[in-house]
Amino acid sequence: MKTYLSITVLCFAVLFNSCGSEKNEKKIKKPKNIILMIGDGMGLGQIQAAMTVNKGNLYFLKFPVTGLQKTSSADNYITDSGASATALATGKKTKNYSISVDINKIPVKTILEIAEDNGLSTGLIATSSITHATPACFFAHQPNRNMQEEIAVDLLKTDIDVVIGGGLDYFANRSDSVDLTENFKNKGYGVYTNLDSISSDHEKLVVLTAPDHNKKMSEGRGNMLSKATKEALKILSKNKKGFFLMIEGSHIDWGCHANNQQYVVDEIMDFNNVVRLVEDFSKKNGETLIIVTADHETGGMVVVNGDYKNGYADCVFANTNHTGTMVPVFAIGPGAFEFTGVYENTDIFYKMKNLLGL
Ligand code: MG
Ligand code: ZN
Repeated sequence: MKTYLSITVLCFAVLFNSCGSEKNEKKIKKPKNIILMIGDGMGLGQIQAAMTVNKGNLYFLKFPVTGLQKTSSADNYITDSGASATALATGKKTKNYSISVDINKIPVKTILEIAEDNGLSTGLIATSSITHATPACFFAHQPNRNMQEEIAVDLLKTDIDVVIGGGLDYFANRSDSVDLTENFKNKGYGVYTNLDSISSDHEKLVVLTAPDHNKKMSEGRGNMLSKATKEALKILSKNKKGFFLMIEGSHIDWGCHANNQQYVVDEIMDFNNVVRLVEDFSKKNGETLIIVTADHETGGMVVVNGDYKNGYADCVFANTNHTGTMVPVFAIGPGAFEFTGVYENTDIFYKMKNLLGL
């Protein structure tokens, strides 16, 4: 009787298990689109500060999946934004100040370029100059992040669909007197310097909204980042094969370097509004994975006292540079569960690539 019972239990267990694994396989739905949102310098302390000031809420804190990524570069425990964005964009650890080249200065294909090669649409949005380290690592290949005029030329070598950010001077006010915006027009792009002046529907769009970086929120940037995201989604979502879009909240890092709590919080709140916007898109669309993360922590920012009820937060900073502290990853949408756990920044590239089936 005992044997009969245990065999029955065993049979049930096998049956149940096989059903379970079949179910799991079907459950891993792959995204058609990926939106990667990078808050430059946005560690846990920065998030805690913004959440506290906002009385306990931020949209990405409701995402179902969280992970942690390690940010060290190939030659330094403390990364810069060039090496960290190279890791996210190419899956390769490289030396600080590099722009998507390996430790031997050999170009490495980026997730954006791979997506293009496979017929997906692609876009980049930043509040900094689009030639600045973080966005540059998704399309350019240069040994040093300071080569911003060369980085601007690299943008023309891609087939990117939407580019919105600062940096007009690197395209149209160059030391070689070439006006690269003309080259973009010749390639069929709608080219603008103001998001409000976009006059018709374009298949490809370049909007360079400032000579170098866009202004701080406190100095009147307004809803540039949200507007840019809406424009980008309009164009990118037309592609039935899918798209890859990177959106950077570039200024968060600069608020941390300046040890300016208000600057950091203002910039995260702007970034947070864009999270709401893309989350709305993802919910309606059903095929879009959103990843919200940082490239590294900056300033060793810590909230030492606060009050959720009245939005009071008191922060201290350990230094004015980047730190080695792991940074959080928040994910929602098909494939989000791949981002749970603790991993290297380079893993984010491989996870995105696998999920897009590239
Ligand atoms: Mg940056
Ligand atoms: Zn920085």
